[in-house]
Amino acid sequence: MSVQKCKRCDILFQYPDTGPQLCPNCTKKDEADFDIVRDFLHEHPLSSGQEVHDATGIPIESILRWLKDGRLISLEITGIIRCENCGEPIFSGKLCTECRYQLAKDFSGAAAKPEEPVQMQPKSEKRGMQFLKKGN
Ligand SMILES: [Zn+2]
Ligand SMILES: [Zn+2]
Repeated sequence: MSVQKCKRCDILFQYPDTGPQLCPNCTKKDEADFDIVRDFLHEHPLSSGQEVHDATGIPIESILRWLKDGRLISLEITGIIRCENCGEPIFSGKLCTECRYQLAKDFSGAAAKPEEPVQMQPKSEKRGMQFLKKGN
C-alpha cells in the first residue's frame, strides 16, 4: 500500500500496489471505458488506436495504458510501447517476449496468470507491411 497520484485525475489516493494506478472513482470510469473499447473492437477488429479514439472518444492515453497493462494487444508496432528492459518495440504489456521469458525463468511460478487481452489490429496495409518487412 502506498500513496500514488491517479493517472486519470491526478488526485492522491491509497494504491494497493497492484492493478491500474487509478483512484477508486476513476477505476469505475476506466472499466466503463474499457467496455466501450472492447465492444467497439468486437465490431471493428481491424482498428488502430487512433481509429478507436476517433470512434469512441476514449483518450489515447487510456488506450495506451491498457496496452501497457496487457489488457489490449495492438498488432501494429508503433514504437510507442517499448520493452522496459531492453527497449525493443512491443505490441502489448511491459516486456518483450524475450525478456518475459528470461523473467519467467528467473521467477518461475511467481507471476499471476494475466487476463486474456483484447486484440487490436491496424486497418492500413502499409503498417502491416512494416511488420512483415524484416531486415530491409
Ligand atoms: Zn482518479
Ligand atoms: Zn526486452
